[in-house]
Amino acid sequence: MPVDLSSVPGAAGEPQAQYAPPPIVGEGYPLTDRQAELLALAADLGREKFGPRAARYDREASFPFESFEDLRSAGLLGLCVPQRYGGLGADYATYMILDAEIGRHCGATALTWNMHVCPTLWSGTLCDDLDMTVEQRAEHERHRSLHFERIVKEGKVYAQPFSEGGAAAAGKAPFGTLADKVEGGWLLNGRKIFASLSGAADYYGVLCTENKPDRSVRDTLYMAVPSDAPGFSIAGEWDPMGMRGTVSRTLIMKDVFVPDEAQLMPRGLYFQAANRWPHMFTTLSATYMGLAQAAYDFTIRYLRGEVPGAPPVKRRMYPTKQIAVAQMHVQLEQARALFLRTIGEAKIDPSKNERLRAYASHYTVMEYANEIARLAIRTCGGQSILRSLPLERIYRDSRCGALMLPWTAELCLDRIGREALYEYGEADD
Ligand SMILES: Cc1cc2nc3c(=O)[nH]c(=O)nc-3n(C[C@H](O)[C@H](O)[C@H](O)COP(=O)(O)OP(=O)(O)OC[C@H]3O[C@@H](n4cnc5c(N)ncnc54)[C@H](O)[C@@H]3O)c2cc1C
Repeated sequence: MPVDLSSVPGAAGEPQAQYAPPPIVGEGYPLTDRQAELLALAADLGREKFGPRAARYDREASFPFESFEDLRSAGLLGLCVPQRYGGLGADYATYMILDAEIGRHCGATALTWNMHVCPTLWSGTLCDDLDMTVEQRAEHERHRSLHFERIVKEGKVYAQPFSEGGAAAAGKAPFGTLADKVEGGWLLNGRKIFASLSGAADYYGVLCTENKPDRSVRDTLYMAVPSDAPGFSIAGEWDPMGMRGTVSRTLIMKDVFVPDEAQLMPRGLYFQAANRWPHMFTTLSATYMGLAQAAYDFTIRYLRGEVPGAPPVKRRMYPTKQIAVAQMHVQLEQARALFLRTIGEAKIDPSKNERLRAYASHYTVMEYANEIARLAIRTCGGQSILRSLPLERIYRDSRCGALMLPWTAELCLDRIGREALYEYGEADD
């Protein structure tokens, strides 16, 4: 007996409309009015400004200065700066949703914006949750008000260089960049690799270790180093496969003096934050959630013959294409479901399962972003890899997420396996 498909969209010869990409959070996700307003702002900027420029930044491996100017004008450099310091006062979840939306349009802008927002989020709401002495809190209040004022009033840009090549950025050894206490501040010596925003940031949020005997990860300091500090320099080439607009070159610090107020967190607090607020390391996944959606959206448009700049040839009628799109859709919704659940669970001292879910979410988004982009290329076919179209850039950018420390895809699995089998404090067998 024939099945009546008249109520199934697209199945019964309805008049054809253009594919309308869904909101990054999917339909029906409960956003506050403020979140919806900010998301609409990010979507407009992404669609009208960041997306059209993305190919040029990628081709030139140049920093998205114009896009940062737009972020500045829209107040988004201060997105997570608390309102009492003049910022927009957005929380972690709001940031994650906005960054994912921006990632749909320009991966490099979204990823570098992440590096700028993290210092504001970490020294802002995240630090409010940490245990501090009264003196530490008063000192931190003085320090962060200075950093926040620079961002909100002067439009300064911060970066987030951790990586040194080795176990430190994985959280398994103290950072090799050392800070010696001197009168009125600190002297920094060391080297950071893959420092996104190199040459574009005004301040670099450098993680380093207080130089004393028997140094440990507990001695980590978090310092904002001005780009014009004597002894600070940028070296090396930046010509990578993907995320080319991040311009992540090497920073070299040779006896760089920073004053006490350069501290973005009080002494010892980074260690507490890393252990008690683990979702602080998931912020990178937002960009890749956006890239996954972008690869999917491209595929739907392409198979419907609706990609601007490509011939309006339909390929959607082939069952093999439909199966591949279904696979991509399932993976995208799996990633989105975990992503949205996880961003709602970010807090101090999450439960063991919330922590494990954060690793699982980060792993899933990073791996699926690339898997969805891979399927997109295979499904759309040869013409889709032309550099005149965005898919090959999305594919190359999506490859980078799983490589990013401290939660590379491998290290997420490493942590899940270990923490699922051992309760906190249990020794190795
Ligand atoms: C586009 C892009 C932008 C970046 N921007 C920044 C930035 O702004 N700031 C920043 O700090 N970093 C940044 N990074 C760097 C990133 O986080 C890594 O540090 C970088 O990819 C270097 O990796 P590596 O090969 O040197 O890692 P290695 O330390 O050599 O590790 C190689 C691999 O081994 C595994 N591994 C490492 N240590 C351990 C361990 N102890 N136990 C088990 N497995 C381990 C990991 O899975 C890792 O992927 C960026 C990277 C990319 C790709």
